[in-house]
Amino acid sequence: MNLLTDLFIDGRWRPGADGRRFDVIDPADGSTIAAFAAATEQDCLDAVDAAANAQPGWAATAPRERGEILRAAYEILTAETETFAEIMVRENGKAWADAIGEATYAKEFFRWFSEEAVRIAGDYRLSPAGDKRIVVDRAPIGVSLLITPWNFPAAMATRKLGPALAAGCTTILKPARETPLTAAYVVDVLRRAGVPAGVVNLVTPVPTGPLVKRMLDRPEVRKLSFTGSTEVGRELLHACADTVVSASMELGGNAPLIVLPGADLDVAVEGALLAKMRNGGSACTAANRFYVHDSVHDEFVARFDAALAAIPAGPGLDRANGLGALVSVAERDKVAALVTAAVADGATLRRGGRASEVGAFYDATLLTGVRHGSAITTTEIFGPVTAVVRFDDVDEAVRMANDTIYGLMGYVFGEEREAVSVARRLEAGMVAVNRGVVSDPAAPFGGVKQSGLGREGGSEGITEFLEEKYIALTADGQR
Ligand code: NAD
Repeated sequence: MNLLTDLFIDGRWRPGADGRRFDVIDPADGSTIAAFAAATEQDCLDAVDAAANAQPGWAATAPRERGEILRAAYEILTAETETFAEIMVRENGKAWADAIGEATYAKEFFRWFSEEAVRIAGDYRLSPAGDKRIVVDRAPIGVSLLITPWNFPAAMATRKLGPALAAGCTTILKPARETPLTAAYVVDVLRRAGVPAGVVNLVTPVPTGPLVKRMLDRPEVRKLSFTGSTEVGRELLHACADTVVSASMELGGNAPLIVLPGADLDVAVEGALLAKMRNGGSACTAANRFYVHDSVHDEFVARFDAALAAIPAGPGLDRANGLGALVSVAERDKVAALVTAAVADGATLRRGGRASEVGAFYDATLLTGVRHGSAITTTEIFGPVTAVVRFDDVDEAVRMANDTIYGLMGYVFGEEREAVSVARRLEAGMVAVNRGVVSDPAAPFGGVKQSGLGREGGSEGITEFLEEKYIALTADGQR
């Protein structure tokens, strides 16, 4: 497989200025897949310059042309789905089906925003006295820094690149250190689709924090779109304050999953399995805490346990496996420590609880009798571990579900009327009712509380990269 391992700046692949590289590891066996170029401060500032120089031309490019480039990128990704998925499996460790699912989801952002590019609406109003015209144009916000995590290395990049490019913004993509190969592949697809030099740039700064700050300090950078942990998000919001940069933040989650007394358990088990196990549990939307009503608890747990037992685990390149590796041994050990702490706090280990000796694998694990408030219910698990809390009062379940600083996602299973009423009471940007997955390019994705600011996808996603400009006209139409 031909992997791209350099930086992409001003339309050219090039190594870092000082030649340093870092290893990209296959978490399934610990082997080194590639040595990726480390970006120096000069590389990062070159990327800002390239994006700033390209900004006026890209903003002036016809929306239809921008849309057609995105559409061409979508077509390339469709033709190359297997290559796309394989790169993700190799550097991230996810199961093959999860990688195919992500490849499909990721490319849809290019198709969706190819269609949104030509629908950027302005506004026109009359002053209350009727003697002035108020014209509101929507203009691209400008050079955008896009920072993405490792768990969905493709979709988190396309969910930002799609709207930014459709809006007429030039971009600098900074992927996670664990997964630069997928990002490099996506950037090259855009190059092949016809994106002009300087419009998309890729840097992998080492050290990350100080060099990201150096880019944000440059006045040409007008937007930060970040997906990652709440901890790093907070730090970046402080950094954005210094140059008053507009920030969109997709941060951590701690999704509750509530099973109400009236739930259809076939639907609940199937949905809960997706909500928990998709991407091996490494999802910001993953169900982190299960609250299951006393009346259905034992039956739900028995069926869910049987469903977990049926998932084959192992390397993602073996397409039969439904559960792959975690992204790194460090992540695996974090998950293992949470399970150990939960058991010490009184939870029962019903299934799993074992880390692999080779590679970053962790068993599909089921804990029951979990205490609400224990570390496993307050920390993002980000792995294949299910923590079940039993409840007998729906108001109490809602209270526990909202008892968190996060507010990204929630899941409710139950008779539809009651489930929708509970969904309305959850403090979350998104709630799934009798469903295990919500992600859709046409939907506004994002969180409340400390899970984020702004929305991605839908018609809302492009507005994050646009700014209103009010043009005052006289009554006879002269600006
Ligand atoms: P992370 O916050 O450690 O890293 C995210 C990105 O920020 C990476 O590119 C990383 O290199 C970079 N980064 C790290 N420190 C930085 C700093 N000081 N300055 C600038 N950039 C820095 O998160 P992660 O471990 O890669 O990803 C997992 C987290 O992402 C989880 O908390 C998960 O919930 C969250 N996430 C959220 C969403 C969402 O849409 N809300 C989606 C996926 C993942």
